[in-house]
Amino acid sequence: MKQIIYLDNAATTKTRPEVVDAMLPYFTEFYGNPSSVYDFSAEPKKAIAVARETIAGALGAKANEIYFTNGGTESDNWALIATAEAYQAKGNHIITTKIEHHAIIHTCEYLESRGFEVTYLDVDEFGVVKLDDLKKAIRPETILISVMFANNEIGTIQPIKEIGAIAKEHGILFHTDAVQAFGHVPINVDECHIDMLSSSAHKLNGPRGVGFLYIRTGVKAKAFIHGGAQERKRRGGTENTPGIVGFGKAVEIAMATMKERTEKERALRDHLIERVMKEVPFVRLNGHPSKRLSNNANFAFQFIEGESLLIMLDMDGICGSSGSACTSGSLDPSHVLLAIGLPHEIAHGSLRLTLNEEITMEQIDFTVESIKKIVERLRSMSPLYEDYMKRQAVAHA
Ligand SMILES: *Cc1c(COP(=O)(O)O)cnc(C)c1O
Repeated sequence: MKQIIYLDNAATTKTRPEVVDAMLPYFTEFYGNPSSVYDFSAEPKKAIAVARETIAGALGAKANEIYFTNGGTESDNWALIATAEAYQAKGNHIITTKIEHHAIIHTCEYLESRGFEVTYLDVDEFGVVKLDDLKKAIRPETILISVMFANNEIGTIQPIKEIGAIAKEHGILFHTDAVQAFGHVPINVDECHIDMLSSSAHKLNGPRGVGFLYIRTGVKAKAFIHGGAQERKRRGGTENTPGIVGFGKAVEIAMATMKERTEKERALRDHLIERVMKEVPFVRLNGHPSKRLSNNANFAFQFIEGESLLIMLDMDGICGSSGSACTSGSLDPSHVLLAIGLPHEIAHGSLRLTLNEEITMEQIDFTVESIKKIVERLRSMSPLYEDYMKRQAVAHA
């Protein structure tokens, strides 16, 4: 079998074998419905309580502030829609940013169609929210600020503590999409004044299909999924016991290994960035040079299409991702790359590589060699590149 170099950990991660092992008994042995009264349900009920405690502990939250969902998208939808409904008597204005995940952006657009007003904050060239812009955007009718903890494309980490302090000072609820950050950077909901936080297990080596929304005690957001009395009547539906148990295990491991793991990722990533920036001409690094996720590298290569680069990397067994979303049915470059000021043609030549700690230096070097070879080949076929080089030659003659 061809060697696979998986560099798309922002899209999803491998479920750890220890996580799978922890989950298995809850399919075949302890499969009782946690809401039932008989003793057979005591074990799944207990396992969910343990996972909830573990997750709450990792955030500095209380167990009864953690609500399990089916993932990050549901948590984001819930946080925004339920808050909008619960607080509409106070106001109809929401503040978010131009670089949020579509789970936030498209939910905001939905809320706009229901009469809410949304301010989408600009970011600077590194993808960081400007605190002055945030302060200026606040109105008497602002009910919610939603700013992601770390960006899924360019890896930029926001000044969440400062944003939380501004929200608190103005008595506005603060939600953060921490899907890329939880388990990767330390988070304390009290220190950062976070009222709601979204997370998803499959972005931290847990299973796909399970997430949670942290809702601070006192926040009025009601149920989003209506049904039974599960999750303290706030999220109906039979609990995904194996998923929740797996999530708990993944969080336990992620917290215990965070320092060592992220240091290892950072060393690999810095080596990757250093080599690409040094050895490939006409390239830029997207995102913040230091305030970024330890596993994220995002480049823009001039004169080439990110899609072509991806397809050719795939032939070498390398899995990456591109900021031009042709594969997802749109010709527009990523809204995140446009928000940091990249012109369309440069945004189209972008490549996101997101690492994990299992990647080796040899694999990084192999990837760099592959990128160099492909970029050269694609540029040799590019009329734009040819034209540019000709003009350069004339200018220097
Ligand atoms: C992946 C992701 C989501 C969506 O999470 P799912 O569990 O896949 O629904 C939301 N926000 C960010 C920042 C993400 O990276």
